[in-house]
Amino acid sequence: MRPRAVLALAVGLVLLLAGCGEPGKTPSRAGAPPAASATPKPKPTPTPRPSRTPPKPQLRPLPKNLPAGLHRHSGDQGVALTFDDGPNPRWTPQILDQLRAAHVTATFCLVGKEARRYPQLVARIVREGHQLCNHSWRHDMDLGRRPVAQIRADLVRTNQAIRAAVPKAKISWFRQPGGRWTPEEVAVAGQLGMRPLHWSVDPQDWDRPPAKTIIKRVESAARPGSVVLMHDAGGDRSQTVAACRTLIPDLRRRYGISRLR
Ligand SMILES: [Zn+2]
Repeated sequence: MRPRAVLALAVGLVLLLAGCGEPGKTPSRAGAPPAASATPKPKPTPTPRPSRTPPKPQLRPLPKNLPAGLHRHSGDQGVALTFDDGPNPRWTPQILDQLRAAHVTATFCLVGKEARRYPQLVARIVREGHQLCNHSWRHDMDLGRRPVAQIRADLVRTNQAIRAAVPKAKISWFRQPGGRWTPEEVAVAGQLGMRPLHWSVDPQDWDRPPAKTIIKRVESAARPGSVVLMHDAGGDRSQTVAACRTLIPDLRRRYGISRLR
């Protein structure tokens, strides 16, 4: 192959393996025109880099300039499942029921104000052996760019809401909404005892594709050790719930479903 084709293939593969989830906030999708005109909120501008045009990625590109130290691997050969933006009284119990039926656990990335609103769901998540992840107080996509004191206050407030529901809850992880990480945020999370959790498979379920599309995206991108990003809140998640009925048993059979470590 020509060098240019090799580069394009490599970039495409990286993009396919590592998507970017921005649940419910951005209406545009991969292949759509640049989001600038369609996105209601102005995007923070990352440090400019020499631009390379990827060859029509299937999934939206990973945010540029990701800081070091993000966890994107389950820690063993199994696949880890992560569910973001809850808890939600309609969708979270349906996911929990499926996980329980399959005898597997997942990680729930909780939004602080939702945890405050639905403490009984936080309690169920913990009672059923799942791991907890702080996902900011109000799903602030720009949190990483705010003053460090504000980042810290947001993460502390979220942990307090979770621990108001489950006093000794272990909150091992933090995930920045939209994956828009900054090094400052990774540092603050670390100071609070939380490891930064990214992902390696993003089916963009927040955009409500049909269940069969979610299944196909996950199953084609999953590898041993993948961390799969999905959502149990933030909108109608009937497609995600339906997809999980196939995905959970399939992934368990192919790779095993692991706890993050
Ligand atoms: Zn989210």
